Amino acid sequence: MSITEELHNGTNDGSQIDLVGLSRSEMEAVFDEIGLPRFRVKQVWHWIYHHGVREFSEMTTIAKELQPKLAAGFMISRPGVTTEKTSTDGTRKWLLNFSDGKMAETVHIPEEDRGAVCISSQVGCTLTCKFCHTGTQRMVRNLSSAEIVGQFMLARDSYRAWPSSKEPRQLTNVVMMGMGEPLYNYENVAKALRIITDEEGINISRRRITLSTAGVAPLIPKVGKELGVQLAISLHAVHDDLRDEIVPINKKYPIAELLDACRSYPKAKNSRRITFEYVMLKGVNDTPADARELVRLIRGIPAKINLIPFNPWPGAPYDCSTNDDIAVFAGIINRAGYSSPVRTPRGRDILAACGQLKTASERERKHI
Ligand code: SAH
Repeated sequence: MSITEELHNGTNDGSQIDLVGLSRSEMEAVFDEIGLPRFRVKQVWHWIYHHGVREFSEMTTIAKELQPKLAAGFMISRPGVTTEKTSTDGTRKWLLNFSDGKMAETVHIPEEDRGAVCISSQVGCTLTCKFCHTGTQRMVRNLSSAEIVGQFMLARDSYRAWPSSKEPRQLTNVVMMGMGEPLYNYENVAKALRIITDEEGINISRRRITLSTAGVAPLIPKVGKELGVQLAISLHAVHDDLRDEIVPINKKYPIAELLDACRSYPKAKNSRRITFEYVMLKGVNDTPADARELVRLIRGIPAKINLIPFNPWPGAPYDCSTNDDIAVFAGIINRAGYSSPVRTPRGRDILAACGQLKTASERERKHI
């Protein structure tokens, strides 16, 4: 099968091929097939990912006669936006709709001198972590590489932050911490991250990209070897019996196995510490004994512990720990030599904070 047919799912129906989300070598193969020389890939790639253009007619280094030919065969997509909301603290959330009507959310979290785009990897999530709103939504599907990289591009569009060389300060970091488990959609996430880090395009450095996993231990070495991005682990409990209950993937990959994978994560040195996320649940995982056990567990791993005050959502079965309990917990970790910032919740008023993302996809499915 030719690459063009493959990209049309085996039936070349003549519809346009989306260039967004193709790897460089795929784009080369597609252009080869229609007889375009390699340097065209370089040019088009630069227009799409450096300048952020969406029309071939804006690609001024491409011959005028060639532009309409490209436009007839290809498109440069973005996810559709159903709603865009901005929180009182500046956090922005987009509810996206994809070509099949499925939905997911992207969040932008601005800070003083930088900003992170929090990207979803799946529509919904299969992990059913008990404190997470997304986990109460039925998993619908994996996002494609175009849909993943498209979320970042959309944020750039929204802040008029093209071209990439402007070094837009609002969009310096990427966190794979939106809806879904990125390591259950490894191939598409990897492809999207390779595009995001490509130096002739978006060019975000690997150290400014964090991939968060609830603990798909066997894939962690691959992330280190193939992607080399910063790793975050959603730990949340220090005993297997509790973690089995609140992060059920623990039954498959228990704490010891997960931490072994972290120990051998390459480049885990001070500049590339592993982040452990720990949601503070009142009366569940927030005692001083838990904090001491956490310190014991991660001994030997260059780490930072993000304490996340539990973000409530309608019907959630937990409360957030008290400020005093969080401070005591943080103090114990801190005295053991680890940085343990308490994350200020962002965008709570628009349900954009950690664990609050949930789209109407499920409800809509039921209505069909
Ligand atoms: N599936 C991946 C990516 C999602 S990251 C993972 O679990 O790491 C989203 C982060 O928000 C995770 O650390 C998750 O555990 C945390 N989180 C989920 N629900 C939360 C809530 N209600 N309050 C605070 N943090 C929450």
